[in-house]
Amino acid sequence: VRGHLLIDVPLAATGIALAVAFGPLPLAGAAALSAAVHTWAVTDPRASLYMPVCWRLGAESAGCALTFDDGPNPEVTPRLLDRLGEAGERATFFVIGSHVRRHGALARRMLAEGHTIGLHSDSHSRMFNCWPPRRVKADLEACGAAIADATGAPAPTLFRPPVGLKNPIVGFVAGRLGLSTVTWTARGRDTRTSDPQLIAARLRPGIARGGILLLHDGHEPARPAPRDACLAVVELVLARLRELGLRSLPLTADGRGVRLAEAAAVTA
Ligand SMILES: [Zn+2]
Repeated sequence: VRGHLLIDVPLAATGIALAVAFGPLPLAGAAALSAAVHTWAVTDPRASLYMPVCWRLGAESAGCALTFDDGPNPEVTPRLLDRLGEAGERATFFVIGSHVRRHGALARRMLAEGHTIGLHSDSHSRMFNCWPPRRVKADLEACGAAIADATGAPAPTLFRPPVGLKNPIVGFVAGRLGLSTVTWTARGRDTRTSDPQLIAARLRPGIARGGILLLHDGHEPARPAPRDACLAVVELVLARLRELGLRSLPLTADGRGVRLAEAAAVTA
């Protein structure tokens, strides 16, 4: 709520004062500005106004972070894990709790093969960003419990909000649960196109030290969709990583923030 109040209350007060002094036009301007700031804070992956987010890592990072949302998916995830294993690359999977309950072996395999798992909500509801705190908390705890039950590991502390939307309530709950929120440096928009070249071109600005790349190996529970393009895109990204001499490393979070797992091991 604090984020809303910090922005909206001063703007509203200013708008009312302007409206009293000069007529309604400045009030309309203040309302439009408030709406623009709110939209930016909710949707921009780099905006930390409503909740702190990590959208890239430092340029001194040992590599970049491939991340995959909306799995595990029985069609795509096993082939993706095979390919990453062959290439010796590791990634982060922001999984949906309801998928993990059905495909727990894939979640176990992710951890066994050195990848990291993060929370991507239990339901991936399109209404997640409109829910009250209690419901957001229950959903995230259910996702964490599904992962812990399937893997035997503690519930993850990394979190990517469903649809990438942020608000002060989600931020408040994530803070209470000790979660570190990760967005992205570049995304392929691979839920809207299946053209691997186009998706890889969109990711290209993020294929650099400290970049966080967003792809999808699964789909929302209520919206089944093929994700085969993911494998072709990963091939292109792996080739680009080799050109640049970079690795993909899994994300990890501790009290000091989000970092690449290998960098954490070096500093520990
Ligand atoms: Zn998602």
